[in-house]
Amino acid sequence: MKLFRGHTAIELPSEDSGGDEFAVQRREMIEKQLRRRGVVDRAVLGAMAAVRREEFVPKEFRERAYEDAPLPIGEGQTISQPYIVAAMTAALDLTGKERVLEIGTGCGYQAAILSRLAKIVFTVESRSELASSAAARLDRVGFRNVHVHCGDGTLGLAELAPFDAILVAAAAPSVPEPLRAQLAVGGRLILPVGDADHQQLLRMERHGDGFTTRTLEACRFVPLIGYHGWKEPPA
Ligand code: SAH
Repeated sequence: MKLFRGHTAIELPSEDSGGDEFAVQRREMIEKQLRRRGVVDRAVLGAMAAVRREEFVPKEFRERAYEDAPLPIGEGQTISQPYIVAAMTAALDLTGKERVLEIGTGCGYQAAILSRLAKIVFTVESRSELASSAAARLDRVGFRNVHVHCGDGTLGLAELAPFDAILVAAAAPSVPEPLRAQLAVGGRLILPVGDADHQQLLRMERHGDGFTTRTLEACRFVPLIGYHGWKEPPA
């Protein structure tokens, strides 16, 4: 569409992109990185299509927001690769009614995705700069059912437990006991467990006092550092 003012033609974004310059990249991400690799849950793909990832990465990485890779978000931390965000979200089997706990807010992207598929999301970040910038960003972009807490997420959020689903976005040496304890009966917990270089995604489901555990796939996350995590970054 062209708007003429005087003799100058001004190009406006085409109507169907609605001013969304990343619409094509987002659609391609969903097709090539998610659906073709087996993430087919319609609700999860819908959430990945609705959240603008470019709003969550630092300005200098905006053009790379839809790459098939993690990206730096400052303080040595990363926003997870789109595929891993979608795969972990799908493994939680959310129906829209859940109270969800996320550990490792980072830039807030994973929390934003969860918030579209659950009733309410509580997310804990240990680095105060990241926690406050994620809270401000989530508020600005309009995710009102996400609450950012700053603290050691390996302790969970006892005062708000139990949770129907818990997602840990940093690699733990083992499953933090408070997170198991704060999972509701029937609840699902997904987290990467392993050392600095080799981790497996585990999915646990609570039945009464017992848990069933499934190993999903290999992955690589930044370390979960805290009382029930690594005491310091693993070598
Ligand atoms: N979900 C994030 C990616 C998180 S990267 C996103 O969508 O961007 C992992 C995050 O976990 C980092 O920000 C790191 O600071 C945080 N983290 C590490 N140990 C933690 C702990 N014990 N409690 C809370 N957050 C922690």
